Amino acid sequence: MYGAGDVRIETVPDPIIKEPTDAIVVVTSACICGSDLWPYKSRKASDAPVRMGHEFMGIVEAVGSDVKTVKKGDLVVAPFAWSDGTCIFCEEGLQTSCLHGGWWGGTKLDGGQGEAVRVPQADGTLVALSVARDSALMPSLLTLSDVMGTGHHAARAAKVGPGKIAAVVGDGAVGLCGVIAAKRLGAEQIILLGRHPDRIALAKDFGATDIVSERGEAAIERVKELTGGLGAHSVLECVGLEQSTITSLSIVRPGGAVGRVGVPQTPVPLPKSAWNDNVTISGGPAPVRAYIEELLPDVMEGKIQPGRVFDRVTNLDGVPDGYRAMNDREAIKVMIEF
Ligand SMILES: [Zn+2]
Repeated sequence: MYGAGDVRIETVPDPIIKEPTDAIVVVTSACICGSDLWPYKSRKASDAPVRMGHEFMGIVEAVGSDVKTVKKGDLVVAPFAWSDGTCIFCEEGLQTSCLHGGWWGGTKLDGGQGEAVRVPQADGTLVALSVARDSALMPSLLTLSDVMGTGHHAARAAKVGPGKIAAVVGDGAVGLCGVIAAKRLGAEQIILLGRHPDRIALAKDFGATDIVSERGEAAIERVKELTGGLGAHSVLECVGLEQSTITSLSIVRPGGAVGRVGVPQTPVPLPKSAWNDNVTISGGPAPVRAYIEELLPDVMEGKIQPGRVFDRVTNLDGVPDGYRAMNDREAIKVMIEF
């Protein structure tokens, strides 16, 4: 990505093993993330170009001498952050804060929107899957790299549980996965705040019981009406904008929790009500590496089908247009097949 609206396909050197803990993965599928759209809207042309993509699956091509959990030929999924799997934070299930971890792409590392990736800390990062490459489960397995785990993290941070009322703010792929997660964790009522008809239809399929398409004050009023005037126990903030964050903090009930997974685009001051009403505010980048193992059985058994968020498939050459399509809201989420 060279700047706002400027994504190019270029040839870069093939990745090689640099550390004994590395693996080389040949990418079989990847995707464009809603969070990729923030730099797509705002990146300055004067900044150095960066490699993009943090959601991918692939086949292990080579491993360093210290790698033990994956081998050449394995089909693997990678979480959106890499981690050693052994430091104190990894052991606590917070791999996004790994002491020896990091993020894909940028100016130094390979991104997932490319043919091959050097994976640091391969043992802690990659998860080998025992499915055929042509399995119908592949799109859903790919969402374990980010959006399904992120939706699950929002639900966890918002303390969704049996019988609770959950409100999901945002109808992008993460919000839709948040609906799946809220239902999976037992929410009784799931209110989606969104306004795109195709996304609303999918949200209903995933378990949303109520839809609120108003914005601002009107949305807050509508959620209050739907919750006996009290607000939701659990609010999943899946956008990251000022308005969506204010809405989230305004529709949570006293003693409730807001789980924020939308990448914050602006600082938002906390309203006094958040203190008065003992609201828990939590969230951050999801430790999806921890959640892959938790969510994988439900994906394998077909209990959840988060792969349905992909409504467009392209190839490597189609990536720039994939960004445009997602940015123009023509597509919910674009999958790239190699
Ligand atoms: Zn670690």
